Amino acid sequence: MPNLSRMSNLELLAKEIIACERCPRLRAYCAEVGRIRVRRYRDQEYWARPVPGFGDPAARLLILGLAPGAHGANRTGRMFTGDDSGRWLYGALFDAGFANQPQAVSRDDGLQLTDAYVSNVVRCAPPDNKPTAAEIAACLPHLEAELGLLPNVRVVLALGRIAFDTYVRLRRAQGHDLGRPAFRHGAEYHFPGLPVLLCSYHPSRQNTNTGVLTPVMWRTIFARARELVDASP
Ligand code: SF4
Repeated sequence: MPNLSRMSNLELLAKEIIACERCPRLRAYCAEVGRIRVRRYRDQEYWARPVPGFGDPAARLLILGLAPGAHGANRTGRMFTGDDSGRWLYGALFDAGFANQPQAVSRDDGLQLTDAYVSNVVRCAPPDNKPTAAEIAACLPHLEAELGLLPNVRVVLALGRIAFDTYVRLRRAQGHDLGRPAFRHGAEYHFPGLPVLLCSYHPSRQNTNTGVLTPVMWRTIFARARELVDASP
């Protein structure tokens, strides 16, 4: 499928996602966060809607996170944009040659990804960063549709156990026999007929402020993602 057509299909999917109202608890929470705001962003209008995926339609690397940050992507309207997790993610993507700049502060900051696409398990910020099982299940068709429109993906980088479990569940539901893979930082799985699944801790403050995920560990993951992508057909 030519890039142009893939892009317009991804754009159509993005519109569908932005209009999604399947999870009343999450929709109410995002709207409430956008109404109240925090002091440092008081003068900004929050996006406060579901956040679609972002990146290169021809991507070979798909990064799968958990959910938009309440004052990050829920404010800016672009995945991993405007918070600490995004600083970690786009800094690493820049260093590994997947992004034209390390900064991600707003939808019009000029950030472009090459050969990488960023998505989340759920597209609406959940209270305490904890979507329910029903909300994850409700959002799964969006991820499946996105994957279907990203046919060049050769490596999936799952950020955190929930992203890992959700991706594995989706592939099993599609009929793939994956055995019994387990989430572990740095683990990688080469399933027949599927992209390589690479695992990392999520760059949440809870992990980066406590040393669970260090800059060296993070850089090593992206160096490996780069190697896997470059070695892929
Ligand atoms: S989390 Fe996903 S399924 Fe639920 S309302 Fe948001 S976009 Fe829709």
